[in-house]
Amino acid sequence: MARSLDQATREALVERVRFYRDLGLTEFYRRAVDPLLVTEEEQPLATLAESVATQQAALLTDISTATSHEERPIPVRKSFPAPTHALEIIPSADRAAALQLIRDDIGDCTRCALHKGRNKLVFGDGDPAARLMFVGEGPGADEDAQGIPFVGRAGQLLNNMIAAMGLKREEVYIANVVKCRPPGNRTPEPEEGNTCSPFLFRQIDVVRPQVLVALGATAATYLLGQRQPLAGLRGRVHAFRGMQLIVTYHPAYLLRDPRQKKEAWADLQIAMRELGLKSSGKG
Ligand code: SF4
Repeated sequence: MARSLDQATREALVERVRFYRDLGLTEFYRRAVDPLLVTEEEQPLATLAESVATQQAALLTDISTATSHEERPIPVRKSFPAPTHALEIIPSADRAAALQLIRDDIGDCTRCALHKGRNKLVFGDGDPAARLMFVGEGPGADEDAQGIPFVGRAGQLLNNMIAAMGLKREEVYIANVVKCRPPGNRTPEPEEGNTCSPFLFRQIDVVRPQVLVALGATAATYLLGQRQPLAGLRGRVHAFRGMQLIVTYHPAYLLRDPRQKKEAWADLQIAMRELGLKSSGKG
């Protein structure tokens, strides 16, 4: 006999369904719902699950007509300057101050053309001694308004991805290749990326995470110094300045093509394995 759900439980389940849908984990609720096992009170949840499955099927049909899975054109980049000496490891307690020195160095930056359209410079966010660091491309409108990376819809998805890894956002560090918003969210020009990315490398060398996750082709290109399609970089661990680098899709791209969320989850599970985090086994 079917049990009825109280309001709080139903809301929690609805939220859970949405959360797993955001991660692309859909198989568990895409099974047909047996109407005989659903009470009148549970019907809204069953209807939501059916509705989500229907919408996703429609979305998959739309996306299947697209001609390319590449998220954006890959910029040309100068070769990455490899360190010529062993990097000094800054004690954890001093890393916040070390990051502040970099921020002070950037100042009210006008080194590249992106400063012209900037409202707020977006430096970075999170734990200066994080074991896991995410690198994105550049600020969008929400980030430009707030001065914090990944706070819009893509940021919400990134937060969900971090939570699915068993971490809190404040336990990781997040930064971008460029610190000022490119007009219309376009890909940074090579001159802009090459001018700004040394600050990112300095941030990485201060935080020295065990694992870096490059979000999207632009971040991967500037970090690795390789102009290569994302498909050739994903699914494995790259050596990067004594750290481990994993490449995956940018959350903004995942919002446009939710089919790839499962692939992104597989990439994050590589990061989890390297960090010794337990997999939830839901991928
Ligand atoms: Fe300066 Fe970077 Fe902003 Fe360009 S994007 S103005 S280099 S902080």
